[in-house]
This record gives sequence, structure tokens and C-alpha cells, in this order.
Amino acid sequence: MIVEQEKILQTYFGYESFRPGQKEVIEHIIHKQNTLAVMPTGGGKSLCYQIPGLSLDGTAIIISPLISLMKDQVDALQALGIPATYINSSLTAEEQRTRLHDIEARRYKFVYVAPERFDSSMFVNIVKRIPIALVAFDEAHCISQWGHDFRPSYRSIVPQLKQIRNIPVYVALTATATEEVISDIQSMLDIQPQQVINTGFERENLSFHIVKGKDRTSYIRSFLEEHKDESGIIYTATRKQADSLYDQLQKRGIQVAKYHAGMSENARKQAQAAFIHDEKTIMIATNAFGMGIDKSNVRYVIHYAMPMNIESYYQEAGRAGRDGEASDCILLFSAQDIQLQKFLIEQSLMDDQAKQNEYRKLQAMVNYCHTQGCLSTFILDYFNDTSFKQNCGRCSNCVERLEKTDITEEAQMILSCVKRMGERFGIGMTAKVLKGSKDKKIKDFNLHTISTYGIMSAYTEKELTERIHFLVAEQLLATEEGRFPTLKLNQNSVDVLKGNRSVAMYTAPIPTNEEADYH
Ligand code: ADP
Repeated sequence: MIVEQEKILQTYFGYESFRPGQKEVIEHIIHKQNTLAVMPTGGGKSLCYQIPGLSLDGTAIIISPLISLMKDQVDALQALGIPATYINSSLTAEEQRTRLHDIEARRYKFVYVAPERFDSSMFVNIVKRIPIALVAFDEAHCISQWGHDFRPSYRSIVPQLKQIRNIPVYVALTATATEEVISDIQSMLDIQPQQVINTGFERENLSFHIVKGKDRTSYIRSFLEEHKDESGIIYTATRKQADSLYDQLQKRGIQVAKYHAGMSENARKQAQAAFIHDEKTIMIATNAFGMGIDKSNVRYVIHYAMPMNIESYYQEAGRAGRDGEASDCILLFSAQDIQLQKFLIEQSLMDDQAKQNEYRKLQAMVNYCHTQGCLSTFILDYFNDTSFKQNCGRCSNCVERLEKTDITEEAQMILSCVKRMGERFGIGMTAKVLKGSKDKKIKDFNLHTISTYGIMSAYTEKELTERIHFLVAEQLLATEEGRFPTLKLNQNSVDVLKGNRSVAMYTAPIPTNEEADYH
């Protein structure tokens, strides 16, 4: 049967062969088995439901969270001569009516809608009356409350869909899924374990870099100088950062586009179009930009500041190099970024449990910025992708191998200090005690009387926080989740303290022009 699908791939889409995972996903769908496809950005998820949509009878309904994405997908299908349309709030009532009428007349093979469309009984009644080929959930992680972009409207339509008897098969597609998200999507959409196709996340053409302790704007300016004419995205953590970077670069005569949720829809549309069509090669944006953007020649993605979790980071960084060409993903890290993200979590409307979950994810992101291991491996481990074993040889940690120094003794001093402080304090306080700081808080807690007070006074507080972060990132020390994570010993710490395990650290240059600001 798949021979027919291969033919569709070649005749309609003009591609020679399937990419990893596509064939399996398509096969499951045409056998009417609910399927979850987990593939990296650029892996070719759209074809996974478009080919079955063409070979099965009836209309395929694709539920998609973003309006911009729908239009692009529909334009692409129409350009191939495939009847497709979308319905969303950007259309006039009259346009919506005409399209609904044409859907009922079975004129379309593909219909893209936002989840909210299922609130309309008129739409639901039409879906009930026409033959349906499949229902696909694009960006399916939005269904899961464990996902980094949970949309309640996405989740709430599932029970409603299940009442519609003529939906033969569900397809879920995502580029980001931790184990929790995968099992959540599975149980929501009744997807059996053997129907989860996870191709792994490794993107061999991407090189990850972490840059610490540099002035961000001057780093970006010199980077852009060396990468003239290349297309790239610079993500900032806030609108304010986006505005200010945009102004600074504009002033220097660098042609940039800007995109964030504080701009009018029209301005956003224009900026996006200028970037997509290479009229402006550089896009400065918040995370509002990019979901579903299919621009293949993005050569770099720079994060001006650390994002809130690894899921978002990998998704945003992954917009580089969709054409398979070598591309760079650079994260500019500074200690203040952690405070900013904590502030954003605190300001959010999440309940306490959800906040706790965000803090846990934030800690993993902070660990990424402090690990000295391979960055690609760190990310893939985070997603439990075990298909990837060696170091990538491309990331900044693999490339900038500096001299390794044995820091077992220093680690033991740090760990015993954590113990003597009763495992009740965070990184900042521990560094202060080791330094022998005169900070009032130390006296308040009577920490100046413990035996490890001042035993590392030869180090700066900054060097000490770097080392403690390193121990946490290497899991030689644990943190309790929360807004002010407290340090705790774990089995690895005990091994180090007993002298059963040594600790080595690459002596990377310590950042000099940023102030550590930990609690
Ligand atoms: P995703 O949604 O997984 O990020 P897309 O479906 O947008 O990825 O596909 C990314 C690009 O790869 C698109 O330009 C698409 O046309 C192309 N593509 C998909 N499948 C194949 C294939 N089998 N061979 C070659 N190119 C493909």
C-alpha cells in the first residue's frame, strides 16, 4: 500500500524518498491507527498527514494553533493544485460562510482550523455530515498541560471530538515532547505505544554555543558583521529587550525586522513577510514569533538572553537550518537572566503547582548554561533521546576544550559547607559563607560561626557561584525546586565527600563584566 503513498510523494510533492519516520507514520494513519509523530523541526511533519489525507477518502481536518501557519500551509497546498482552505477569525463572516458551504459540498481535501472553531455548532454539524479522512493536531504539545505552550482550548475540544462518530483516525504531531507530554497526548487521543513514532531529536547540522560574560549588544554587532547577508533570528526574553536591541541596531544602520505581541497585527505581518522574503535578513523577536514559520535558510538563531526552559529553547533554536545546512544556535547567558525568568514565572497566572513545574524546567535550563559536557547530548538527554551516544564535536563545549583541572578538594569544601549550613540555603548564600562575607544576612542566620565560613576566601563570590552551579549541572549536588532553590546533598555528593569520586572542571575563563545576583 505504501507504494501508492511513495508515488504521491514524488508526483505531488516532487521528493525522491521519505525522511526518517514519515513512512511509518503514514502507514499507521492509512491503517486508521491513531498516531503520534515526534520529529524535530524541519523533519517533515506536514507530509505525514498530507499524504494520508490525499490517499484516504474524505476531508482532512487540521487543527492548528496559529493563524499565520494555516495560511502558509494552505497556500503551499494550493500551489500544488490540492484543494485546501482555512477558517479562522481573520476572515469576514461572508468569507467564512462561503468556505463552510464549500466544505459541506466536499470541495476541499484539507481544512485548517483553530481549536476554537469547534465552539461553533454550525461547523461541528458540517463535520458530522461529511466524510472525514482524518483529524490532525499540529503542534500537539499544546494539548498537554505539561507542554511549554499549553492551550486549554486545544485540550477541551478532545472530548467533544470523540462524540463525533465519523472521525476515523487522529494524528498528533509535535517537535517537542518530553516523556510527560508524550504520555499525556497518548492518553488524550488513545494512541498505543507502538503508534508513537519518535525519530529522535538530533539535528546534525546545528552547532550549539553558550556565550557568557560578554556585552550582549557588542557581541551581536560583531557577529552580524561577520555574517552579513545571512538570514538569522535574534530572540529576546521580553518586548522591552526586543525594542531596545532593535533601536540600537537600527541606529548603526543595520537593517533589521522586529516582531512581538505588543505590535499591531499589521506591523507584525509586514515584519514577518519582510523576513520570510529576505527583504530583511535579521529578525529581532520575542517568542511570539516563529511557531510554524517555514523559512529554510535561517543560518543562525541567537538568544539574547536565556529562555525559560529547554523545550522553548530547542524549538526556537531549531528554526535554524531547516534546509539541512550547517547553522549556529547561540545563547548569550548572564546571571541576571535567571532572575528575570523567575520574575516572569512569579508574575504569571499559573497556580502553585504549575509554577513549581516551571521552576523545575528553569533549573534544567540553568544547568544547560553551566554544564561543561556536550550541549547536544545535554538537550537530547533532557528529551530522553537515547539514540544519541557520542559527543557532537560541534558545540562550544566540544570545541573549546580547555585545560581540565582537578577541583575535588574545592568540591569537597563546597559540599561540606552545604551540609554544615543544614541544606537550607541556596547558591548565593553558600558562596557568601565560603567567601567569609560580612553580609548582614550571614550574621542573621548565625552562619559566620560554622567551620566552613571563609574557607574559600581566596576565591571571588563569582568564582564560587560558578563552581556551585557547575556541581549542580553535573548532578554532584542537588537543588530543591522552587523560586529560591535550596542546595541538598545527593549520593554523588556523598561519594565526592568520601573521596570515592574525583571532580574535574574545564577552567573556562570566568565572566568578568556581569554582576552575580543570586539569592
Ligand atoms: P516540520 O513541520 O516537521 O517542521 P515541514 O513539514 O515544514 O517540517 O517540512 C520541512 C521542509 O522539509 C519542508 O520544506 C518540506 O517540504 C520538506 N520535506 C518534507 N518531507 C520531505 C522529504 N521526504 N524529502 C524532501 N523534503 C521534504
